[in-house]
This record gives sequence, structure tokens and C-alpha cells, in this order.
Amino acid sequence: MRPLTEQEIRTAFVNCTKGEAKRLHVPRDLAERPWDDLDFLGWRDPQAPGRAYLVAAWDGRPVGVQLRSSDAGSWQTRRSMCSMCVTTHTGGVSLLVAPRSGKAGQQGNSVGAYMCSDLACSLYVRGKKDAGIGARLHESLTLEEKIRRTVANLSAFIAKVTE
Ligand SMILES: [Zn+2]
Repeated sequence: MRPLTEQEIRTAFVNCTKGEAKRLHVPRDLAERPWDDLDFLGWRDPQAPGRAYLVAAWDGRPVGVQLRSSDAGSWQTRRSMCSMCVTTHTGGVSLLVAPRSGKAGQQGNSVGAYMCSDLACSLYVRGKKDAGIGARLHESLTLEEKIRRTVANLSAFIAKVTE
């Protein structure tokens, strides 16, 4: 994806208030992020471990989604699969919940998805980050097809948040 500036990221959020978007934690190392290998930028808030964020290109413009995770330990030791990139982790998948944008979100509606806890799906798909033994299903898909699938899954998720 195209490298984004902090300002672009802050203005991209669709499911939080302007004040929240102004205050939320944006990574300081944006210049060093491997943008060429990213389908979306995802990060955790180091000060608030239950918060995560992702920004993806959506119809040519960046769209940001704030997420909450309820990392209650019990299922964390199980093997679970990320619903975006289809990587299986032991303890590395979180249920991330996004308030929906607009009225639906104000009424408390949200959308949840199981995702890689570190939101590094793009790097797992490309084999740039290792999720351990058995992380990848044996699939006959090409890298290109796996990337397309991840982007399609993510787009479907963002559509549910914004629709
Ligand atoms: Zn993933």
C-alpha cells in the first residue's frame, strides 16, 4: 500500500469521534514500516493493550477502524485461525470488535472478527513473519491469490463496519 502520514491516518477513522482520532496512538515508526508488503496498516496501542487499529485503502482512500479486543486468556492457548489471512496461530489470534460507524455504532452495534493479534496478516501471508509450525494450511493458491483473499476478507469486514 501507499505510505500514509500520521495526519492521513488520523483523518481516516470512520468509527470513532474526531477527538478520539486525534488522541489515539499512531505508530512513531511510520517511515520504517514495510509499506510495499502491507495490504493494511495494523497496530496495537502500547498503552492500552485492549485497543487495536487498522487502516486500509478502501476505494482509493484510507479508511481507519478502531478495534477492541477482549483477550480473556482461556482460549488464547488454543490454535485459532485468523479470518483475514487464514494463518493459524497458537495463542496469536484475537477476537477484535469494531463499533460500527455512524448511528449503528452509537446504538452499540459492532462487528467482530478473529484476527492475528499483532495485525501483521500481510507479513504472514508473504512469509515475512513466521507464525510457527503448522501456521499455513497446505494450499495450492499462489501468493497473489492469497493476498487477494486477505484483501477481500478485510474489505468485507470494513464494509460491515461502515455500511
Ligand atoms: Zn491474519
